Amino acid sequence: MSIQMTPVQTPTGGINEIIPVLLPALKDRYAKRALRLKQLAQGHAMGDYLGFCARIAEAQQQLLDQMPLPAEHVAGLSERLGGGQAPLASTDYPRHPYWQQLLQALIERLYPETHAAVRSTLESLRRYTSAELEGLAGALLAGEHEQVDSGQALFLWAALSLYYTQLASALPAGARAHLGEQRQHCPVCASAPVASVIMTGAQAGLRYLQCGLCECRWHMVRLKCSNCEATGALDYWSLDRQDAAIKAESCNECHSYLKVFYPEQDRDQDVLADDLASLALDAEVEREGYGRSGVSPYLFPG
Ligand code: FE
Ligand code: FE
Repeated sequence: MSIQMTPVQTPTGGINEIIPVLLPALKDRYAKRALRLKQLAQGHAMGDYLGFCARIAEAQQQLLDQMPLPAEHVAGLSERLGGGQAPLASTDYPRHPYWQQLLQALIERLYPETHAAVRSTLESLRRYTSAELEGLAGALLAGEHEQVDSGQALFLWAALSLYYTQLASALPAGARAHLGEQRQHCPVCASAPVASVIMTGAQAGLRYLQCGLCECRWHMVRLKCSNCEATGALDYWSLDRQDAAIKAESCNECHSYLKVFYPEQDRDQDVLADDLASLALDAEVEREGYGRSGVSPYLFPG
């Protein structure tokens, strides 16, 4: 792990030093995402699905406001820092059943307003025992997508992500960057990125990868493939203009791609929302023979 989470912010060498990890801010996070999804749904070929995902985001916001992560979950987090491992790695960090309470509350909110097909998915999730849900979460977080129904995965992930994002935002941590490789996975939870973002503001011009689970962002230099770290093998694809707000970065070494977001071109971007609304770009790049290296929190395979 070339970015290590530490108990305190390590003193930096100067004002120009790059911050390795940006922890997620919770305030209005899901409300903003819901708004963006609704905006993108207008006149979109996938408008209905974008609108449905907006409802999921609204429900996540309600849960964040009404049943936030209990303070005692945060108490032991500092002990997990400084050991060189991602402190919230799903294989190692003991998940609290609170995430299942989030899932059940999510189901209760969405159930009355969904149609029959979605209802049967929600009902199937309701019937699982706590141990069965834990097994499904473990498989999903390990990337074993064939073990989890893709319809169920959408809701499982929404609850899990709300849990891990709250933990990550509460992490009493700084981060220390080490030169070297292995920045493919989130230094906080070891999950895969959704996409990368070319930042504006204090980090202007720097590339950060955004975690698909805990939603923190970590720095990675722009000239390397985010998957295999090869240099000099990258191509950029966009559907319309040269200065498009979303591009796909493909690698001729490992034949993967990941989307890159340019909020400077579109200040309202939300990585998850805009990722879902730009599937046409994925289709184009996959047609060229590249496979997506990141996760798609709104579209699981299977
Ligand atoms: Fe993460
Ligand atoms: Fe690569």
